[in-house]
Amino acid sequence: MNIETKCLHSGYTPKKGEPCALPIYQSTTFKYDTTDEMGQLFDLKAEGYFYTRLQNPTNDAVAAKIADLEGGAAALLTSSGQAANFYAVFNICEAGDHVVAASTIYGGTFNLLAVTLEKLGISCTFVDTDASPEEISAAFQPNTKLLFAETIANPALVVLDIEKFAKVAHEHEVPLIVDNTFATPVNCRPFEWGADIVTHSTTKYMDGHGLQVGGAIVDSGNFDWSRYGSKYHGLTEPDESYHGIIYTERFGKKAYITKATSQLMRDLGSIPSPNNCFLLNIGLETLPLRMERHCSNAQKVAEYLNDHEKVASVNFAGLPGDKYYALAQKYLPKGSCGVISFELKGGREAAVRFMDSLEMANIATHVAASKTMVLHPASHTHRQMNDEQLRAAGVAPGLIRLSVGIEHIDDILADLEKALKNA
Ligand code: PLP
Repeated sequence: MNIETKCLHSGYTPKKGEPCALPIYQSTTFKYDTTDEMGQLFDLKAEGYFYTRLQNPTNDAVAAKIADLEGGAAALLTSSGQAANFYAVFNICEAGDHVVAASTIYGGTFNLLAVTLEKLGISCTFVDTDASPEEISAAFQPNTKLLFAETIANPALVVLDIEKFAKVAHEHEVPLIVDNTFATPVNCRPFEWGADIVTHSTTKYMDGHGLQVGGAIVDSGNFDWSRYGSKYHGLTEPDESYHGIIYTERFGKKAYITKATSQLMRDLGSIPSPNNCFLLNIGLETLPLRMERHCSNAQKVAEYLNDHEKVASVNFAGLPGDKYYALAQKYLPKGSCGVISFELKGGREAAVRFMDSLEMANIATHVAASKTMVLHPASHTHRQMNDEQLRAAGVAPGLIRLSVGIEHIDDILADLEKALKNA
């Protein structure tokens, strides 16, 4: 099946007389007839549902769809993108371990790696996403367990050279984890370029309507955990908290996701509600249609802004002059995403006047939703910084982040045009 068809049909196939729409199994628990039947589930010897924190049929159907869209072996849904990235790392790292990550990643993930995981004894070295393989290699230590990056970085819009990162990761015998939130599997499937694990904030394009906060982890099943002795001992040696199960022996290509479910979800519990998974599934059904429109609208908006006298610069990988144009042509031939950033010549004051003159676009911290949304980092996400500090952080005072929606392009351009007159 093509991805458009998978978005509609994967994960849930109704049998005769069953509902065509994915049912919401809004139940915490599931009933069994004998003590032994349920005991088998606790031992992971039989497959089935007993408690929604571990598994739920609605959630599983959506996880299976996302695994299929990415071309993976298995997936786990979480209650947020933050939880997905935390679990993806913590599933194979413990105190004393080390991670290498691209420096341009989303601020929340940067903080998770630089501050919160550090408190748990997991250290991180950040590398420039555009660095040479040798420079990235130099960041590795004997205790490094993974390499982490984003396909399209939020908000820097840096496009990842996935093959370069995968090669370095594999030379150091660690998996490459790629957060594929902005590209979505419609525009890029990182496994096809060598990534081993993919994560998502499903809050963004996958949902598309700004209805639910959620996350996903997908494992390609390609990384051979058993090959490196006791390096990934949590997967390759008996789990005493699960009756001595060895995940790689029992679950093969599904070992990583099964361990994340049976250990991390059991103990930390960041499960999405079945109702949220139902909403996410509705979003997934139209993902390819929406991505096509997001990308074509964003291309026209980027070209319009690029030619505008009040605009100093535009970041968008679809513009031939953009630093990441060549990488986008290779990894994102159908388009990158709908997010653009641009700098107004008039600086901070012009940016505020522009924002306040918009009528249709929503001022919101959200991105990657059907409605056009706009944010002024200097007034919002980076508000505590003065102009000098902003420049040091690579955020110009006049920078605007624009998440182009799927409205008619003429209406988006008319709104921008009016606001730019006042900028
Ligand atoms: N990853 C990326 C690329 C993001 O942009 C975000 C949020 O903006 C996250 C992860 C975190 O996701 P969530 O907000 O769903 O926790």
